[in-house]
Order: sequence, then structure tokens, then C-alpha cells
Amino acid sequence: MNLVSEMNKKVNRIHHLKKTEDLSSNALAKRLKIDVRMVRKVLNGQKVYPSHYTRVAARYGLPVEEVTEQMEQGNQWCYKCEAWLPREEFYEKGSGGFRHRGGLCQKKNG
Ligand SMILES: [Zn+2]
Repeated sequence: MNLVSEMNKKVNRIHHLKKTEDLSSNALAKRLKIDVRMVRKVLNGQKVYPSHYTRVAARYGLPVEEVTEQMEQGNQWCYKCEAWLPREEFYEKGSGGFRHRGGLCQKKNG
């Protein structure tokens, strides 16, 4: 996935607009069609992560740094194996989530 490079482009645009037009956080958020909380974080020098990764991290109780690194490498988290595994071992559920293929999953937790 290229979510991190997309995020970096947004971060660069925020810094550029702040520098050239000195817009408020709200104006920047509106202009770039992104969450104002993300704009504030960027301007405060905090690291930001794609929302897809923060949601996955929250769902499985994993550090967002780890989720970002692994998913950018093409891995998926299996909550049954409790491990990062290649995305090819997963199938996509209708709900948008990924499930580890039955034959490959160790099903430690049943
Ligand atoms: Zn599994």
C-alpha cells in the first residue's frame, strides 16, 4: 500500500500552505479536505499515521508504528495466529476486513 507516501504528500502540502499563505488550522483542513486534528498534529510537529492504520491498530490493540511498518510491507495481522503474515495468505471478507485462510491459520484461540 502507498498510504504512507500519500500521507507524506498531505503533510508536505500542509507545511507548504502554512508557509506561503499562513492559513489557520481550520482553513488548512478545509482547503485540503482533511481532519483539522491531523492538521494541528502536523503543525505541532507530531507524527501522523494514515487513518486506516490507526483504526487497525485500535482494533487489535497493536502499536500504530508496527501496524504501519508491517502493512506497508504487504503483511496482514491474524488475530488467531497472533502474527503478521503475507497478505497472499488472506482473503477479503465482504465487510472489508481480511481473514486468514483456514488451511494456513493455526487457530491458536479456537
Ligand atoms: Zn491465522
